[in-house]
Amino acid sequence: MFCKPCAGGRNGHIICYPIDSSLKALLSSLKFVVGKPNVLDKDRFIARLLEIIDNEVHTNDGPFVRELEGALANYLGVPHCVAVANATLGLELVLNALPRKGQVIVPSFTFIASAHAIVRTGHTPVFVDVDSRGLIDPQAVAAAVGPETVAILPVNLFGLVCDVERLSDIASSAHARLIYDSAHALGVRSNGKNVGGFGWAEVFSLHATKVVSGFEGGFVTTSDGELARVLREARNFGFDKKGVIVALGTNAKMSEVHAAMALTNLEKIDWIIEHNAANFCVYQSELSELCALIEPQEGESSNYQYVPVIVATSDLRDKVFAKLIAKGIAAKIYFSPGVHSTVPYIRNNICRSHDLSRTIDISSRIICLPTGVHVDASGVRAIAQIFNEALL
Ligand SMILES: *Cc1c(COP(=O)(O)O)cnc(C)c1O
Repeated sequence: MFCKPCAGGRNGHIICYPIDSSLKALLSSLKFVVGKPNVLDKDRFIARLLEIIDNEVHTNDGPFVRELEGALANYLGVPHCVAVANATLGLELVLNALPRKGQVIVPSFTFIASAHAIVRTGHTPVFVDVDSRGLIDPQAVAAAVGPETVAILPVNLFGLVCDVERLSDIASSAHARLIYDSAHALGVRSNGKNVGGFGWAEVFSLHATKVVSGFEGGFVTTSDGELARVLREARNFGFDKKGVIVALGTNAKMSEVHAAMALTNLEKIDWIIEHNAANFCVYQSELSELCALIEPQEGESSNYQYVPVIVATSDLRDKVFAKLIAKGIAAKIYFSPGVHSTVPYIRNNICRSHDLSRTIDISSRIICLPTGVHVDASGVRAIAQIFNEALL
């Protein structure tokens, strides 16, 4: 049974109804799903769960949250790691820590949360275009910065890395802070350096669909100790270490259960990435030349959690997507449309946009294919075959 509050129900009563049998059949027939959680060691998680219950510490900077922060800081080689309830709140806390309100430059080709966090913290998003791989275009950023720019928020989309050097130069000459949305990029490196060590702060997600799942969750990395302190206070209502309210904080704490799940899955990250990389190689060799797989460049080492493909035309993309779904393969359209053309941004006129022609083009032709620990080489071959046939 699915339960949901029904607007038409009397006095807001919860109405329960049996899940439609055709929907049920569809759900169970979906064999390969983009973003199916990577879970490898159930027993270890259950053991930790029992430990939490015995400890009687459920939340508030508990031992598993601290252990997770330490493990992540160590894995990424960063001085500070602050766990939060999710990446969206992580972005909000960092954006709230900026010295003043102003414009934040962000790609329109991203998940909606990158932009929502900007608006919800009282800043103005300025949308710029992306390059041919869907990453923020540094030239567009350079053209968009101005006296009102307070931050640049590039997105390390699909486990790929933005042009960190040029972005760093642009940010410092514009006196703007560089905040990376690295929600997709745990375990990713650029020229031997881990994503997590770039910019003023980087924000990661531990959502169920990401490379490491904590059910929900996120964290911020930074080398700025003062920022780390501000974030720790802000995630806990504004209490400082002594329990004094020093800021207008919120509740963005991570619970012990989420930390235990993330910690358990983080222990398997090398294995997950290796598995994803092997899948990616099979996609590379199997996918038709009538489409273009977005690939890491030289010097870039991805987590391969995403398999983004650009199809020749938007009609063909839609045809391929429908065909895959009909065959029980839950591909996803990440991301379409661009944030600038979603309802709240059009309706409220809360943004500025530069030329977004590449964003519009890519978002009309992109499709992401399944990978992760539930897909193996033979699964990839089966998906690629259906995909290739649909292209013809
Ligand atoms: C998933 C995602 C987020 C949001 O992460 P949550 O932890 O779910 O809040 C932000 N940005 C991008 C690019 C994402 O894909």
